[in-house]
Amino acid sequence: MTYDFDLFVIGAGSGGVRAARFAAGYGARVAVAESRYLGGTCVNVGCVPKKLMVYGAHFAEDFQQAQGFGWSLSAKATFDWPTLIANKNREIERLNGIYRNLLVNSGVTLLEGHARLLDAHSVELGGQRYSAKHILIATGGWPHIPEIPGHEHAIGSNEVFFLEQLPKRVLVVGGGYIAVEFASIFHGLGAQTSLLYRGDLFLRGFDGAVRRHLHEELSKRGLDLQFNSDIERIDKQPNGSLLATLKDGRQLQADCIFYATGRRPMLDNLGLENTGVELDERGYIKVDEQYQTTEPSILALGDVIGRVQLTPVALAEGMAVARRLFKPEEYRKVDYQTIPTAVFSLPNIGTVGLSEEQARAQGYRVDVYESRFKPMKLTMTESQERTLMKLVVDADSDRVLGCHMVGPEAGEIVQGLAVALKAGATKQIFDETIGVHPTAAEEFVTMRAPVTS
Ligand code: FAD
Ligand code: NDP
Repeated sequence: MTYDFDLFVIGAGSGGVRAARFAAGYGARVAVAESRYLGGTCVNVGCVPKKLMVYGAHFAEDFQQAQGFGWSLSAKATFDWPTLIANKNREIERLNGIYRNLLVNSGVTLLEGHARLLDAHSVELGGQRYSAKHILIATGGWPHIPEIPGHEHAIGSNEVFFLEQLPKRVLVVGGGYIAVEFASIFHGLGAQTSLLYRGDLFLRGFDGAVRRHLHEELSKRGLDLQFNSDIERIDKQPNGSLLATLKDGRQLQADCIFYATGRRPMLDNLGLENTGVELDERGYIKVDEQYQTTEPSILALGDVIGRVQLTPVALAEGMAVARRLFKPEEYRKVDYQTIPTAVFSLPNIGTVGLSEEQARAQGYRVDVYESRFKPMKLTMTESQERTLMKLVVDADSDRVLGCHMVGPEAGEIVQGLAVALKAGATKQIFDETIGVHPTAAEEFVTMRAPVTS
């Protein structure tokens, strides 16, 4: 049996591009189909534009803090949203071009359009049928907005990056990564912002001290955090503003209601019914350890399999799939333990390994080391911001199980610590590591006495 391609990848996002490029590099004949934008969610409506906007939002604090160092601004700093969005769009277009070159230069055939499975070895795109020995589904996810009355007046993360103006009053709904990050962005850029979360405290699953510390820090900055709050209906007012009626009967006015309530797998019109691909109980594509679906010639990875929805994880899975199919001697399983992650709220969270709660639930006897301090850069300013650093240590083996931080550059700092945790570093090794002075990060190697055991 001869096929048009050895591998047909559906979706040119983080995972799909990585798998396609490496497979082509190993000598496979590869096609990748993309219906929207090269680079997928991360490049177009995710990590990259979000981080650019976080940088933009942080300037509000920078201008204030600069005064402590003798700077004064001759005029009040003003912010222009259309400039930020236009510059962001230009940068994303540049990245789209880079992705195109990456694919083309590695010999991948790029097909632009919506791809639909016809059977276990065939895909239809733009009226053309393509056959492939292996097909990889890397179609990512899509924002999920609950279908409450008036939900059509709300926006999700696909729209938030393209608003024409900065709304004056914003309600952010949700308590996960996106909600916390965008509440910080809107608040930093000057919108009157409230975050509504249905539970007691946002960022479920993160370390308790981190969640409480971020709560305090965001509140100090004047961000309105409303926990145990959920919207029942949204009505558009004659003046164009939105009225949110909460489940407890309260009503809130806003110009923009932004839902960040999780994501669903992108399976729309994918033709799964023409194949033996099955979904798991949550609705994501079911795969085995090597990303093979229940249809042997079809694989899936990234957000559409719903494991860990982060770009570096999709990249690692893409690499694993390319190697498994075309360079098996170099195949290595993706290690889902100790994946570092950051929440780019202001201030940032950086975390790797187990939270104190997870460690205790897993039966570890833990020593907890914690430090809270005013970052040196803020000592000459009026800022009341405090940094939190926390280590969770296995009291029996002395191994460091988790590192957690809330503060400037937390993501940057935790990336380095993730290497130490992956290498199995003990608290003694942390103690024997010489600090870099004066930095905030040195606190991670100078915490001596446990606060709880
Ligand atoms: P995607 O990147 O979503 O790519 C899927 C691609 O498939 C898309 O381009 C889509 O158009 C295409 N496609 C879908 N169906 C078809 C079809 N039938 N035919 C052709 N093409 C199709 N992760 C981080 O690690 N750090 C962050 O800071 C971060 N920030 C984020 C912020 C936001 C607002 C969001 C929404 C996500 C963020 N993420 C972040 C998560 C990250 O973006 C995803 O985990 C990652 O993009 C998943 O990669 P993927 O390859 O699985 O899918
Ligand atoms: P998350 O899964 O992180 O959070 C979803 C939030 O919405 C939770 O607080 C959840 O509450 C709440 N929620 C879910 N359903 C409802 C509902 N029907 N009504 C009210 N609230 C609801 O999803 P996000 O959308 O924030 O992000 C999706 C994923 O993208 C993240 O999990 C992460 O993997 C990735 N991402 C990574 C980033 C990074 O690395 N910095 C940044 C942004 C996204 P509850 O906790 O009670 O279930």
